[in-house]
Amino acid sequence: MIIKSEQEMLEFGEKFAQSMATDKTAATVIELIGDVGAGKTTFVRGFARGLGLTSEVTSPSFTISKSYALPDGKTLTHYDFYRLNDPGLMADDLKEKIKDNHIIVVEWANSIKNILPKNRTIIKITYNDDGAREMNIEDNRNSTIEGLPEAAAEDERRSPVKTGATDATRNGTIRLFLDTSTPTTILKLNDQTYEWNSGHDLAEKLLQFIHDKLTENNKDWQDLTEITFMSGPGSFTGLRIGATIVNTLAHELQIPLYDHHGEKHKIILPDYGRGANISQPKK
Ligand code: ADP
Ligand code: MG
Repeated sequence: MIIKSEQEMLEFGEKFAQSMATDKTAATVIELIGDVGAGKTTFVRGFARGLGLTSEVTSPSFTISKSYALPDGKTLTHYDFYRLNDPGLMADDLKEKIKDNHIIVVEWANSIKNILPKNRTIIKITYNDDGAREMNIEDNRNSTIEGLPEAAAEDERRSPVKTGATDATRNGTIRLFLDTSTPTTILKLNDQTYEWNSGHDLAEKLLQFIHDKLTENNKDWQDLTEITFMSGPGSFTGLRIGATIVNTLAHELQIPLYDHHGEKHKIILPDYGRGANISQPKK
């Protein structure tokens, strides 16, 4: 199924919620799979509306869940485990919510998928060349092995970092995604993911790194059509350097700039997650 716009995604989420009989005796779990900016959170906003929520759903910031009380007394909980390798206490929190029969939607479920019940609904969202989104829905709620945790190792297609060699030059246009929030820089050119352990070389070599990868795909700066940046929280230095580069590129190339929640910005400010003044003034 093809979803052509944000509005259609909201409506789809809303209808999906209305058509989905939620079970009072078991958790309802939806796993959302898709790249940054695919529309996962947009779906959740529509879904929440369909469950009768009148307040707006906002993206749970990095690693954090958000719960919403629904008019019928149930609770909707929205998780986003983006780039979280060790969910720690959040895993227990999720287990608890499953036990308490919450309605649960999860983005970037990779690190906790062994906790998710087998009978969850899996919605996969992929970009098409023209900006439309293709929806793939796998409804496992009639699974005979209800509640059985899935083997943790299986199913690589759900990894947030795809390493398979897909064609980054599809359609001649390149969407760039950059994450400099940890020592391992992640660069995506469309579906193609590159990792680089930048260490102390980030400031000196980041632009060159991006350009090298464009060159490998027979592309250059002017082929970039949009930029998404993981704005934080994370490494102070990494975020500062990354933000400077994406701000400059987007400005110079006159292309749209998004943060990892899909929000558009003229200038991205790093979200350090804490005060940026880490060292005392010298005097
Ligand atoms: P995710 O949670 O998957 O990272 P978001 O839902 O936060 O993504 O952001 C998706 C962005 O893409 C939003 O800014 C939305 O307006 C935009 N968008 C454009 N076309 C579509 C579409 N067909 N479906 C969903 N979102 C779309
Ligand atoms: Mg999201």
